[in-house]
Amino acid sequence: MKTPSSDDAARVLVVGGGYVGMYTALRLQRTLKQELRQGRAEIVVVDPDPYMTYQPFLPEAAAGAISPRHVVVPLRRVLPHCTVVVGEVTALDHGERKATIATLAAAETGDGAFTVPYDELVLAPGSVSRTLPVPGLADVGIGFKTVEEAIGLRNHVLEQLDIASSTRDPDVRDAALTFVFVGGGYAGVEALAELEDMARYAVRYYHNVRPEDMKWILVEATGRILPEVGPDMGRYAVRELRARNIDVRLETRLESCEGRVVRLSDGSRFPARTLVWTAGVKPHPIVAASGLPLTDRGRLKCTAALQVDGAEHAWAAGDAAAVPDVTAPPATPDGPHPECAPNAQHAVRQAKVLAENVSAALRGGPVRDYAHKYAGSVASLGLHKGVAHVYGRKLKGYPAWFMHRAYHLSRVPTANRKARILAEWTLAGLFKREIVSLGSLENPRAEFELAAGTGRHNETT
Ligand SMILES: Cc1cc2nc3c(=O)[nH]c(=O)nc-3n(C[C@H](O)[C@H](O)[C@H](O)COP(=O)(O)OP(=O)(O)OC[C@H]3O[C@@H](n4cnc5c(N)ncnc54)[C@H](O)[C@@H]3O)c2cc1C
Repeated sequence: MKTPSSDDAARVLVVGGGYVGMYTALRLQRTLKQELRQGRAEIVVVDPDPYMTYQPFLPEAAAGAISPRHVVVPLRRVLPHCTVVVGEVTALDHGERKATIATLAAAETGDGAFTVPYDELVLAPGSVSRTLPVPGLADVGIGFKTVEEAIGLRNHVLEQLDIASSTRDPDVRDAALTFVFVGGGYAGVEALAELEDMARYAVRYYHNVRPEDMKWILVEATGRILPEVGPDMGRYAVRELRARNIDVRLETRLESCEGRVVRLSDGSRFPARTLVWTAGVKPHPIVAASGLPLTDRGRLKCTAALQVDGAEHAWAAGDAAAVPDVTAPPATPDGPHPECAPNAQHAVRQAKVLAENVSAALRGGPVRDYAHKYAGSVASLGLHKGVAHVYGRKLKGYPAWFMHRAYHLSRVPTANRKARILAEWTLAGLFKREIVSLGSLENPRAEFELAAGTGRHNETT
């Protein structure tokens, strides 16, 4: 085993502890068990958060069906044989095989970043929201990729009901009760459908807000939503949402949202205090800063064996990587295969092959290609409602929703977490939903600052 990073252990540096990063490290722990025990290998996982987020459950977390702690997986607990570093890789010098890491401590104390040498690099930083230069978007838009955003959005929606219920100003009430989601992929549609369902339930406890007072609007630039479940199921989802009074606007774009006034390309203009942006993703910026080869769309150019094309000892997978889908035919007979779509289905399976290939490379063995035929998708449209198109079978309504839950539950890492989520769902069936907004959690010092006379409240009173 070659070890430029130190005299005795070959170091695998995993950048990102999300789907690819966590599953790769999980498998590496097993495949390199002997080397780890003998001190001949070391796995270092770097992520700004000490947990992996199970993103497909974020809409249910926003709706309050799963508590936030259960949609995340603590990296230290599941990776006891890896070194978990909470921090961000801020620079890579793959020529020298060195990464610069800024840790949490560095941010707090100004200690500065440090450099880590490595032997094999696994680059899995995922994606970030793909924003457009829409006037006002950066000021008022809310993303939907993290557990913080999902819970923040839940609190925000419930707070709007409180605002609408307590104001005498009809304009403020209208803006509070208007919820706009831009982007009709599974993140946007599931988030909207789950939150609308939750808000519809919550307003029964408000004496002066009725479900029909709320305006839920889905804005999608193309002529369809949920491309992941195919055209038929996408059309069904539009009908299902419209039947719930959700205003689905296809072939429409957000033009501006300055001053919390939304202007759409169909000429409409209305005030809204909620604007959720889920119009696609792009690779994390560290990918461009890595100096490694990229495709036109900014993803890392990879081989089917998940090696970064032309860069020895560099591996990548997931949203940030352009991995050829060898199961899909090329557009032209001599052309390249299309890229695997950025989704969890590929990410988990790629992680398995990636870990095996990294282990093989360290032992001087052969690597293999990644090949997985996309099986289709399931999407929830709120409690007991859903759409699915899996292995050619189309399902809708309750069976699709059940399949969505069963499939994702089976995929959540660790038996412990599965049991907790199952227990939460079971209890939710027996008790009423929680409908309280805990928005003040985002500023826990406010009360104490008020008491100490140093807070924002004191400045204004
Ligand atoms: C709301 C929502 C619902 C979804 N639902 C589905 C679904 O139903 N089915 C499906 O197949 N897919 C779904 N997806 C997509 C799926 O979650 C992603 O495709 C998958 O997470 C990609 O895995 P990844 O490892 O590439 O990225 P991620 O899982 O996002 O992990 C990337 C990790 O890298 C870390 N990181 C970033 N930069 C750095 C850095 N500089 N240094 C160190 N660490 C860094 C991040 O903090 C993150 O933890 C959904 C996504 C969202 C947002």
